[in-house]
Amino acid sequence: MKELSGKKLAVEIKASLIKEVEKLKTETGSAPHLIVLQYGKDAASKAYANRIEKNCKAIGIEFEYQQFIEEPDRFKARLKEANQDEKITSIMVQQPLPPELKDSLEMINPKKDIEGITSASLGKLFVGLETLNPATAEACMEILDYYDIPIKGQRAVVVGRSNIVGKPVSILLQQKHATVTMCHSRTRDLEWELKNADIVVAAVGRAEMIKGDMLNEDSVIIDVGTNFVDGKLLGDVDFDSAADKVKMITPVPGGVGTVTNQVLMRNIVKSFKNLHQIK
Ligand code: NAP
Repeated sequence: MKELSGKKLAVEIKASLIKEVEKLKTETGSAPHLIVLQYGKDAASKAYANRIEKNCKAIGIEFEYQQFIEEPDRFKARLKEANQDEKITSIMVQQPLPPELKDSLEMINPKKDIEGITSASLGKLFVGLETLNPATAEACMEILDYYDIPIKGQRAVVVGRSNIVGKPVSILLQQKHATVTMCHSRTRDLEWELKNADIVVAAVGRAEMIKGDMLNEDSVIIDVGTNFVDGKLLGDVDFDSAADKVKMITPVPGGVGTVTNQVLMRNIVKSFKNLHQIK
């Protein structure tokens, strides 16, 4: 088994972004600027925002964070302002959101939508137009590309059909000419699908649900899952049993998540360049 670590790839993306941001600052006199808006007190969202801040600072991206508590109208007003503010080139709205604010994701200016979650961004992805793709889906593709894993004509099985991971990664795999099967909680025989896969992307959110004996010996496993169990980070795939069985597998941690962090940074730089009409 070969371990598909994301660490070296992440370091390479980061190094090239540091150089690029420096150059963009010299050329434009301004810097990519991210605002993260959070509604409510969710501690995990705040911790995620802190990690993003650290990553932004390491690359030279300006970072701003605003938290709103029980003021939905002010939250929406700030989002509208951020859409129009020329200094702010990227926007992230933290989830979870209360029901009365669910529609605020759709309010994000698609040009600043670095998570690729608006229907405008996802629609462009669907029809194959250039857009800001959801970072996790793109990170899966980056790993496959980095390790020269063939995609064309391969059977890819994506487990999970969320808008942010499962659906976008299935489209990206199809664009690279994989034959894609999407599985979900109502799939009749998941094991059969997995056994017949060349590439498996697991994005379920259930710790170690996929065991080695459900997989085939020639398969490549991309584990997107991030599940905290007793303070330990676990994937959706049982790494130990799968590692004995499959050809290649991403570890958790140190796999998809590590690359996703830097792909998100790259999206921030892309949105800045798009807004400044820089190729
Ligand atoms: P989500 O929105 O909760 O979607 C989970 C999907 O898994 C759903 O489509 C669900 O099917 C399917 N599912 C649930 N139980 C299943 C089962 N027993 N068999 C087959 N499919 C099943 O999750 P998400 O946001 O896509 O995230 C998935 C995982 O990726 C989570 O662990 C999350 O933390 C992680 N994640 C990691 C990164 C990263 O950068 N590494 C980024 C984002 C998310 P139904 O549609 O039928 O309900």
